[in-house]
Amino acid sequence: MKKEFVVIGLGRFGGSIVNELIALKADVMAIDISPERVEEFAQIATTAVAADTTDESALRSLGIRNFEHVVVAIGENIQASILTTLILKEVGVKKITVKAQNDYHEKVLRKIGADQVVHPERDMGKRIANNMVSNNILDY
Ligand code: ATP
Repeated sequence: MKKEFVVIGLGRFGGSIVNELIALKADVMAIDISPERVEEFAQIATTAVAADTTDESALRSLGIRNFEHVVVAIGENIQASILTTLILKEVGVKKITVKAQNDYHEKVLRKIGADQVVHPERDMGKRIANNMVSNNILDY
């Protein structure tokens, strides 16, 4: 059976996850509050939906709890990121990965039960520095 994922927030980070998941033959529901962003992914994602994910009933009506893994890639609007994560948790989503903007954001996300918290710029910087020191230019 195909793996089914949801990506919320279609900026550079979320958009790149959608593209990669599709390349890996997964099913992806792509969600953004901005209809223009959703339009961009309409031909790429399995389904692309315009919704405000801080609205619990909107999330429930998308059947979000049936997906095995949800990524919250809302960056700048920390409040929306936290509220979305909280709702996903309450609805019963099994695995939630969230992009954090800073350490305080990460602390709150962990407290409310995010399974994985990532800092894409920081994580990638670390990885590249490590690869530079170990001279491994193949894995980045
Ligand atoms: P990146 O660096 O990955 O481009 P970013 O950190 O600048 O992203 P934003 O552009 O702030 O992040 O947010 C990513 C996306 O999340 C945007 O396309 C934005 O429209 C979407 N978004 C913001 N709030 C909501 C919300 N309440 N519901 C759904 N999507 C939202």
